[in-house]
Amino acid sequence: MKKKVLIIGTGLAGLSTALRLSTDGYEVEMIEKYHRPGGRLNLLEKNGFKFDMAPTFFSMSYEFKELAEYCRMPMPFEFVELDPLYAVHFEGDSRSYLIYKNLKKLAAEFQSVEPDMERKVARFLKAAGEIFHDTENIVIKQNFDSLFSYLLQLTRVPIKHGPKMFYSMWREMEKNFDSFEVKVIFSLVGFFLGATPFDTPAVYSMLNYTELVHDGYHNVKGGMYKIVEGMVAELDKRGVKMHFGVEVDRFEKNHSGISAFVDKTGKRWDADLFVVNADAASFRGQVMGRPKFSPEKLDSKKWTLAPLTIYLGLDTKVKNMYHHNYFLRRNFKEYAHKIFKNSIKLDKPYYYVNIQSMHNPDYAPEGKESVFILCPVPDLRYKSDWSDAEEIADAIVKDMGERTGFDFAAHTETRIVYHPKHWESMFNLYRGSGLGLAHDLNQVGGFRPANKDEEFNNLYYTGASTIPGTGLPMTVISSRLVTERIHKDHGHLSKK
Ligand SMILES: Cc1cc2nc3c(=O)[nH]c(=O)nc-3n(C[C@H](O)[C@H](O)[C@H](O)COP(=O)(O)OP(=O)(O)OC[C@H]3O[C@@H](n4cnc5c(N)ncnc54)[C@H](O)[C@@H]3O)c2cc1C
Repeated sequence: MKKKVLIIGTGLAGLSTALRLSTDGYEVEMIEKYHRPGGRLNLLEKNGFKFDMAPTFFSMSYEFKELAEYCRMPMPFEFVELDPLYAVHFEGDSRSYLIYKNLKKLAAEFQSVEPDMERKVARFLKAAGEIFHDTENIVIKQNFDSLFSYLLQLTRVPIKHGPKMFYSMWREMEKNFDSFEVKVIFSLVGFFLGATPFDTPAVYSMLNYTELVHDGYHNVKGGMYKIVEGMVAELDKRGVKMHFGVEVDRFEKNHSGISAFVDKTGKRWDADLFVVNADAASFRGQVMGRPKFSPEKLDSKKWTLAPLTIYLGLDTKVKNMYHHNYFLRRNFKEYAHKIFKNSIKLDKPYYYVNIQSMHNPDYAPEGKESVFILCPVPDLRYKSDWSDAEEIADAIVKDMGERTGFDFAAHTETRIVYHPKHWESMFNLYRGSGLGLAHDLNQVGGFRPANKDEEFNNLYYTGASTIPGTGLPMTVISSRLVTERIHKDHGHLSKK
């Protein structure tokens, strides 16, 4: 007999889980709070301009290929590899540094500041690559039945990587490089994980390996939302129903587990099994009422930075810029130490800019440009008043104009600004945190909220705040891990 699964949330992890479970013979239904699928991987449209709302590139593209193979479907979209990966602009420096995967070209970019760069970066990446390959299958792509099984699994990681758990990513940069520029650029990945490079363990330098050697970064032909459109079209063919504007806020149970989730209008959504794609930590607190995830406990966890995002529709083409750009300054240490908890004034922020219509010309009308700016900011625990968001956006757009010699403000035809309160209310992101729970060593693996519920045998979680972690490829892996768990507990309905 068919088993019915209800998936709460249509983010990338929810959609990937729906594809896998429908392949395995489950009847799948999905409900979603927002008005369209994709979660954070979403699309904005205004006055003829389109914008990728949040993710603009990703690594580990092979995880999407694995998903398509598992689901016996053609790849639903086409990858576009970034080359160069991105450009970095330092304040007061008229040149920009291009980050290439080709180490010779990369070394040439930095020859004036980092002599012997090719040898140094090759040595650094070799060590980073060893960590990645020694942990990918043992730790990242594993379910753990208990904290003990996680710790046991960690003992399989070669002991030589041990010391890198105990010193920082910044220290690792200092050991390998001399120039401020290279150290800063390679340690930016620390922020994605939810901490400064001064607090992030050096083991995470494996992310430099994934960007520079292993698989690089990719965008999608036609825009990032093609990922969602392709998956939804396939789910549609399979008869998976999706309901939008539906937010669950309580549950009902019977002797065998959860019997239904109930939405804010009182409608019951029943099924045999339930997979929650909403944030695995805050959902446990806010909907399941678990004391371990009370507001105080949630607030005491480490969360990734919140986004302040700016979408500009320009009346002309941009000059002197690359697709993906970081705008940094010279006060890196001081800024890093303040950025997570700064509650008052965002003075001279750091930001990332993606000229979206360069990859995808149909994102802007003929001769015009669509631009996305992301400025990571403190979450709502530290800065709850965002009445100054437009003012901050003005300052960023002005700064970008001064540093590139192109007057973005004068050419702006359309503008949208989203601050952490918007992000919180659109997708239930806890305190507006953009990437979910941070990845401190005590918040990963067996310490991260599990993908199986502690109490109910028919309730599971998938997405950025459960295992293995945040980012698009990680959420695809998360869908694989939760599917494996469901098979283990409830059987494989259609053995492939
Ligand atoms: C600004 C920004 C930039 C980013 N850039 C990148 C990038 O370049 N590359 C990259 O790899 N990653 C990036 N990320 C991270 C990436 O977007 C996430 O890791 C990933 O999309 C998370 O997917 P998910 O399925 O776990 O969660 P989500 O996308 O958040 O999906 C969860 C869904 O559940 C819904 N939901 C929540 N609560 C309820 C409820 N009670 N009832 C019903 N529905 C509910 C939400 O509305 C949402 O649609 C970025 C994130 C942000 C915010």
